Amino acid sequence: MDETLLMLPGPTKVAPRVLKAMSDNIVNHRSAIFGEIYTETTELMSEIFKTENKSYLLTGSGTAAMEAALSSIITPGDKILNVVGGKFGQRFQQITNMHKAESKELTIEWGDSVTPNQIKEALDEDEEIKAITLVHNETSTGVSAPIKEIGKIMDNYDALYIVDTVSSLGGDRVDVDKYGIDICVTGSQKCLAAPPGLAAITLTDDAWKVVDSVDSTSYYLDMKKYRKSGAGTPPETPYTPSVSLIYAIFEALKIIKEEGLDNRITRHETAAKATRNAVKALGLELFPKEEVSSTTVTAVKMPEGVTDPQLRGTMRNEYKVELAGGQDHLKGNIFRIGHMGNITYKELAITFSALGMTLKKLGFDIDPGVGVSAISNSYI
Ligand SMILES: *Cc1c(COP(=O)(O)O)cnc(C)c1O
Repeated sequence: MDETLLMLPGPTKVAPRVLKAMSDNIVNHRSAIFGEIYTETTELMSEIFKTENKSYLLTGSGTAAMEAALSSIITPGDKILNVVGGKFGQRFQQITNMHKAESKELTIEWGDSVTPNQIKEALDEDEEIKAITLVHNETSTGVSAPIKEIGKIMDNYDALYIVDTVSSLGGDRVDVDKYGIDICVTGSQKCLAAPPGLAAITLTDDAWKVVDSVDSTSYYLDMKKYRKSGAGTPPETPYTPSVSLIYAIFEALKIIKEEGLDNRITRHETAAKATRNAVKALGLELFPKEEVSSTTVTAVKMPEGVTDPQLRGTMRNEYKVELAGGQDHLKGNIFRIGHMGNITYKELAITFSALGMTLKKLGFDIDPGVGVSAISNSYI
């Protein structure tokens, strides 16, 4: 078994209980037994989303839910406002284009966050915007967007509010009903700490009205089919679901309930603060502006004179700690430390101990223990 410590913004470490759940026998996915498991799992999913509305599980990674959201509400030619400040904002835009809607891009500098006022201005400029897409936690840059405050703005417009909480749900504050989010999507392998391969989505009545008014441009991801099958007796999915992964996410969601969602978010906030403190203690620089920095992943500028293979390679090969690199133009320029899912002081202590040693080995004149020390001080 590979013992490498995954400090990634997904996939994250999965609890043994969750892995064990996946070894349960496969049942008929058209049976009452499965219907019960599916119902209980989606009900728990709605609790974590903080919505009274139903949730649906899709077999596919987080991107499947992003595509389900857009393909279910787009009629070719529609105008969609895409907030683009990183890789995942871009993905929403690419999906928008793929389904032949017109993307209006609200460009945000990578490392910064959109403001509610920018959203307001963009919506005032064009009354025909049918929906906006926003990534709550832009994993590629380590930036968190103010989804609550933007929700207040969205109250004054008919445009649907579509939010990607793939790398925040279960780790940062998401309250679908209170924030007025019309379509919220997430994935299994990030803060929920389940294995990769499942996505979840929830829609409000307003969103369903739009869904009912369009012909989906996707066969597999047509949300009307998920609603119909989900309301059947027994409740089902339209196509064969990944039964084992549903056992796994069911167990992972139960763990979240046992920990308490608020406690879990506080744990993530502590980990984020500790990580930023340790990064700074080692003399490294944060990539995003600190006031908009993520609760679940920290992006760090690659120190001068060090390459990505040197830094992440040493971490991986010598110390068995896996960090994430940068994407697109940030490749080689940043590295990212994921602290989502089941991360505690323990994993951070190991990570920063290894990072201190790595930097020392690469010729930095530092005390390799200052990062770990900052972690300890952040936790007492
Ligand atoms: C990981 C992630 C996704 C989905 O990526 P998949 O590889 O399809 O799971 C979408 N949005 C954000 C913000 C993510 O971090």
